[in-house]
Amino acid sequence: MFVGQKVMRLSQLLFGKMHVVVSICVWLCWLVLPCRACAGEDDLLLCRSCGHEVASDSDVRFIASRLALSHRNNTMIGDKRIPVQLFENPQGVQFEVVTFRRADVFKHWPADKHFTWYPGYSWTIATCPRCSAHLGWAFQPSEWPDIVTDAIFQESEQTFVALIIDKLLQENFAATLLMVPKSFRS
Ligand SMILES: [Zn+2]
Repeated sequence: MFVGQKVMRLSQLLFGKMHVVVSICVWLCWLVLPCRACAGEDDLLLCRSCGHEVASDSDVRFIASRLALSHRNNTMIGDKRIPVQLFENPQGVQFEVVTFRRADVFKHWPADKHFTWYPGYSWTIATCPRCSAHLGWAFQPSEWPDIVTDAIFQESEQTFVALIIDKLLQENFAATLLMVPKSFRS
């Protein structure tokens, strides 16, 4: 009987404090499980139309243009402040873009030297290789031939890609959209 009473008291104590136990477990998990940023993992940027992996935050390379209408710091990728520039094309359409050292986009050569946003560089339209959505433009030195191979473009330090921020989606943000709502969990 004595042992039974002890077990009963212990279980009452445990279940009575269950919310404390759960809180401690959650807190410990939060401490032990490394976050992506702490683990040094790249935050991927996806095509907003189809989810294709276009670039990562480590590919960002800010290239300022004196032809930009404005620029601002945008907290776009994780906690990194990424500079965004506003450009206008000859038709008066404005685009906010982020520049990348490289990106997995399909470039539509031949490159055009006219109406460039970067003097000294010619440009090609850049589209998503999976769904063909227009994502931005690829820039290469204007003294280069109008048509080059993708390998030459990717390997060069003189090339870059400007992607329209509205056409991209952060992988981490996309993951939050895919989380199962609490009400659907058993
Ligand atoms: Zn796509």
